[in-house]
Amino acid sequence: MNYKGFATTAIHKGQEPDPLTGAVTVPLYQTSTYAQEGIGQHKGFEYARTHNLTRFKWEENLAALEQGTHGFAFASGLAALDTVMKLLSAGDHVLAAEDMYGGTFRLFDKILRRFGLEFSYVDMTNLDAVQSAIQPNTKMLFTETPTNPMMMLTDLRGVAALKSTMQSGAMLVVDNTFASPYVQKPLTLGADIVIHSATKYLGGHSDLVSGIVATNRADIAEQLKFLQNAAGAVPGPFDCWLCLRSVKTLAVRMKQHQENAMQIAEFCAAHPSVKKVYYPGLKTHPQHELAKQQMSGFGAMISIELGSLEKAKQFASTVRVFTLAESLGGVESLVCHPVSMTHGSVPKETRDRLGVTDGLVRLSVGIEDIEDLLEDIKNALEMTK
Ligand code: PLP
Repeated sequence: MNYKGFATTAIHKGQEPDPLTGAVTVPLYQTSTYAQEGIGQHKGFEYARTHNLTRFKWEENLAALEQGTHGFAFASGLAALDTVMKLLSAGDHVLAAEDMYGGTFRLFDKILRRFGLEFSYVDMTNLDAVQSAIQPNTKMLFTETPTNPMMMLTDLRGVAALKSTMQSGAMLVVDNTFASPYVQKPLTLGADIVIHSATKYLGGHSDLVSGIVATNRADIAEQLKFLQNAAGAVPGPFDCWLCLRSVKTLAVRMKQHQENAMQIAEFCAAHPSVKKVYYPGLKTHPQHELAKQQMSGFGAMISIELGSLEKAKQFASTVRVFTLAESLGGVESLVCHPVSMTHGSVPKETRDRLGVTDGLVRLSVGIEDIEDLLEDIKNALEMTK
């Protein structure tokens, strides 16, 4: 059955009562294999890398939330990325965003390049730059939007339009981790594949590591199904079960995340100790209008420039409600220092060009009471004066 609303889909799609017992939650099939009645006679379930009903239900659910037709779950966001890249072959060229999660850059630059994939990195906010960097062997356009940590946006409809003029049959792949499907649905804007680190908003409680991919193209789905099984980077059933449980509250969580984030972004923008605030919800963000067009909200990730490493350290060691930690998207607010934590593998020249400075800190705004969050930020900013 298909549902009209996002929250209803999150709660019910793939999560219908169990036909055997009526259990209202999807059973956890914690098994590696299945009894067969005779040689060649089984119930369609043979081995759990290939078949696991808890995983299938999570894949069905997320595909529906992204308005795709097929979902594929993986052991981590990077496992999902790695498997998607295996759609390509040696000699293929990938045009990727220059501002993205450091671990994705490391996967591309330190591992996949050795296998003969070619990469170039462009400013994805600039469609002319994207067009000029296209090569005859470009088989994939890869972007994150909003980006980590500079909160820059890719005009997804614009890039999809460029892609449709390319002869090489390139696909557009979007890492939607920062927005979540509640805020943005890249497949509806022209993407072929959407990827998530489910560790973040989908899991939502900082208690699991997982990844998931959705597509609305049957040809890509067929290849991904093969790769998921053949390369084998699948998640365990319990992590899928946790995702199914967590996603039921994604809509209410995202509403609160975004409400809190807007207040914190406005507070920081007015504070004399903050040199710059990067948040697509602020009118001062250079792509605020684009954000309004392609996102239904502005997410809850904010980066602030404090001016120096010393000030960043002072801020991070003073916060009490925010926790200094890598990762994002959980109910608890986190603060991270990209240069030393998530973006160490990005070359310094690139970091400098993008604005990933020693004084930049990234906030993942949680769903605690806003009074506590604001007081925490205020106290920490006082210490940076
Ligand atoms: N994509 C983005 C935007 C991320 O922030 C991360 C991790 O921080 C990943 C992918 C990788 O996901 P995972 O840590 O689940 O492997």
